[in-house]
Amino acid sequence: QVGVHGIRLETGALPGPVALVLMDVTEARRVEVVRRDFVANVGHELKTPVGALRLLAEAVEDAADDPETVRRFSARMTHEAERLSRLVRELIDLSRLQGGEPLPELVPVEVDRVVAEAVDRTGLAASAKQITIASGGQHGLVVRGVESQLATAVTNLLANAVAYSPEGTRIAVGARGRSGFAEITVTDSGIGIPREDRSRVFERFYRVDQSRASTTGGTGLGLAIVKHVASNHGGSVSVWSEEGLGSTFTLRVPLAAQVDVEASSAAAGA
Ligand code: ADP
Repeated sequence: QVGVHGIRLETGALPGPVALVLMDVTEARRVEVVRRDFVANVGHELKTPVGALRLLAEAVEDAADDPETVRRFSARMTHEAERLSRLVRELIDLSRLQGGEPLPELVPVEVDRVVAEAVDRTGLAASAKQITIASGGQHGLVVRGVESQLATAVTNLLANAVAYSPEGTRIAVGARGRSGFAEITVTDSGIGIPREDRSRVFERFYRVDQSRASTTGGTGLGLAIVKHVASNHGGSVSVWSEEGLGSTFTLRVPLAAQVDVEASSAAAGA
């Protein structure tokens, strides 16, 4: 059954080519609706930091002879500008990933390098909150992929773990080979995700709590990017979480070749 302009039609009653054309029209309309929603969302998301920047700029002007206030408002302007540039960067990433551009050639990528790169990129944010990132698991795994995309995905998972964990906690990141896939897990003991939100956090712009997200500078795009990276690689991403206890995100990416599991776990244990 397909529906066009609200009319439901039995495809079985139509000759093949007509049914196909109708289906194309329905799909085109669906794509159009998704695109319109997306543009509306982007507009809304851009409006917030831009509006804040304008108000802050006015406040700075008014407070010109009060250096302390100027300093305080300027710091907030920097914060808003950073949020804005993160949003733009993530929008570009996302549009590249889902734009139907052919994926760059998949080549052997060392998981250890991907994890190290991601830990490196989140180190500053973690130490600002006295959070320790411990990497462990199996070493020497090689997947087929695009290193920059995988590093972005693991960085997004680690950045979230940092953002949604209290100060002084510990985050574990590690990999293991299982059934032809490398499973990269990021575990935090942060605030966790309520059950009803768990399946939706991978949607673009979805946030568990808008007010909470704005204080962490979140854009709601990080996990949508992870999901696209996973599917571009023929893999997947999933989450386990318990409110108040923490979350574990698992990214699965096909291994490049059968690895000698015993040798690499022996190396990992050494
Ligand atoms: P954001 O930029 O808001 O972090 P994401 O797409 O990365 O956007 O995540 C979507 C939402 O999922 C977040 O706003 C947050 O509510 C929730 N979330 C993601 N990772 C975690 C985590 N490790 N712990 C708790 N909540 C999380």
